[in-house]
Amino acid sequence: MATGVQSDSASDQADVHRCEDKLNIVIVGAGLAGLAAAISCALAGHRVTVFEAAKELAEIGAGLQITPNASKLFREWGLEDSIKALAAIPTVLAVHRYRDGKILAEERDFDKNLQQKYGIPFLDIHRVDLQKILYNKAISLGVIVQLDCRVPLVVSTSAGPKVVFKSGREVQSDLVVGADGLWSKCRESMLKKADEPLPTGDLAYRIVLQLDKITDPELRHWIANPQVHFWIGPYSHAVAYSIRGGTMYNIVLLCPDDLPHGLSRTTGSVSEMQALFAGWDPILTRFLKQVDQVDKWKLMHREEVASWTNLEKNFVLLGDSCHPMLPYLAQGANSSIEDGGVLRRLLSYVTSKEQLPSAITLYERLRKPRSESIARETFHQREAFHMPDGLEQQERDRLFESQLGKEISGKFPSRWTCPEVQPWLYGYDAYREADEAVKLTPFEY
Ligand SMILES: Cc1cc2nc3c(=O)[nH]c(=O)nc-3n(C[C@H](O)[C@H](O)[C@H](O)COP(=O)(O)OP(=O)(O)OC[C@H]3O[C@@H](n4cnc5c(N)ncnc54)[C@H](O)[C@@H]3O)c2cc1C
Repeated sequence: MATGVQSDSASDQADVHRCEDKLNIVIVGAGLAGLAAAISCALAGHRVTVFEAAKELAEIGAGLQITPNASKLFREWGLEDSIKALAAIPTVLAVHRYRDGKILAEERDFDKNLQQKYGIPFLDIHRVDLQKILYNKAISLGVIVQLDCRVPLVVSTSAGPKVVFKSGREVQSDLVVGADGLWSKCRESMLKKADEPLPTGDLAYRIVLQLDKITDPELRHWIANPQVHFWIGPYSHAVAYSIRGGTMYNIVLLCPDDLPHGLSRTTGSVSEMQALFAGWDPILTRFLKQVDQVDKWKLMHREEVASWTNLEKNFVLLGDSCHPMLPYLAQGANSSIEDGGVLRRLLSYVTSKEQLPSAITLYERLRKPRSESIARETFHQREAFHMPDGLEQQERDRLFESQLGKEISGKFPSRWTCPEVQPWLYGYDAYREADEAVKLTPFEY
């Protein structure tokens, strides 16, 4: 991973060092959630160390949709330009019927509309690019990232929370943020019991195609002109969008899980994948013919836990460790970035160590209900997208088509453009939420 320092100016440093005593903050995990949290805590003026299990940072080579609720924070953190330079901004969001590709919903000028509604773009980016940008930003803010440091245990002590390594090494801090993803050990430490994620019943095939390896002019046109396309069918759907300025194409196929228990990720069979989607819209199957390798991921989730914090309010969970979800609304990472944004803003109000528990209490109060509602909403999106052919599906398609070419009103089967769900997701302002909460519940001490 390159360690060059971000060139963007850090616009979000106004209240750095408000706290008389800098807090020592340990973050477990340097995925997108952990890096966002590291930037947040450093911007709030604290000393941050990240312990990451992997020997090198290597997000998997696939795409990620960044929605306005997160792009807003990236702007605050001075990262908007570097992200935009590597992303693609889709101009259309369309939903197609799986067999013939018939358009069920289509929002043209999606880029302009979102910019107008939320003041910030919706972007599609390669995960590796985003991870590099976040990593470099964290390093430029003085964050220490220690790789090859798996944290199996976090314990609460009267002197503060402590991460304990297998070697017996212990690191005490003022705050531990558990951002160690789906298979979180921090969560188990918090719950004081083993706690495995649960299958959702679906899996994802993840595909990335390079424009320069494709000769079919129509497919090249699709890739070079960034748009988001969904194809929805019985128990399955596909989503495709351009990344890296229209030079790469990301396709995710979602279908019933046939991986054995205990196997969460593997190399998939290209022919099996093509057979599953045979008979779907010819443009999609033509794309699938270009594929020479594919990854297969079991999609997992978790039951909601009673609390995301320890009793002392100095150990907290964030990201997939506490709110994994189906990727059907592209909110797993985006809501983790929101976690980071709220944490950053609350920590910037902390003027003494004694106030930390108040900040963490508010963090949980703000973040837990929202993230858990988003996770539930992803399952509703599955119901709406995966209907088997039949009366209910015909009713859904009539509703879709009744709104074609019009400004959508009322509940809509695709939450991506639903006038009720989209503003709730994309209009979220993490800093405003934190500011208002602090105003209503000022910190004790
Ligand atoms: C197919 C698919 C498509 C998706 N598309 C989108 C999308 O478009 N938009 C979106 O917002 N979200 C999307 N998501 C969800 C998103 O990828 C996740 O929600 C997000 O990456 C979670 O980030 P995280 O940092 O919490 O977890 P992770 O990315 O899992 O990172 C956890 C990190 O912690 C490290 N770690 C683990 N255990 C330990 C330990 N014990 N000690 C130290 N380090 C540890 C890991 O090595 C890793 O680096 C998608 C998910 C899938 C499966």
